[in-house]
This record gives sequence, structure tokens and C-alpha cells, in this order.
Amino acid sequence: MRSIKTCIDCGRFLTQDEIALNKKLVSRELREYKCLACLSQDFGCEVADLEIKIAEFKEQGCTLFI
Ligand SMILES: [Zn+2]
Repeated sequence: MRSIKTCIDCGRFLTQDEIALNKKLVSRELREYKCLACLSQDFGCEVADLEIKIAEFKEQGCTLFI
């Protein structure tokens, strides 16, 4: 069952893609998630880079991104 998650840093509502990316990049056991903007700050990259990552994982057929 899916519940509504928010970013632990800024409180923004998260998409399923964002949550999936958190799990993929950080840990599958993760319980707290961050939005793309806050994640990109953590990783020192651009939001666009993370959007590209999401697209790549989807192309690979990663089951987290369904
Ligand atoms: Zn955030």
C-alpha cells in the first residue's frame, strides 16, 4: 500500500519516481526520502542529471520504477 511521502528536507510532496530514485541511489531500506532538488544538493549535481538517471533506470526496466 502506497502512502503520500514528503521530502524530509523541504516537505515537498514526492512522486513515485523520486522515491524510487532515493531507493536506487541511497538504499532500498530507506524510510525517509528527499525530492530531486534536495537530492541534487546532496550529490552535488543538477536536478536534470537526476531526471536523466530516472529515465535510464526506467529503460533498464528497474522494478522500483513501476
Ligand atoms: Zn526537498
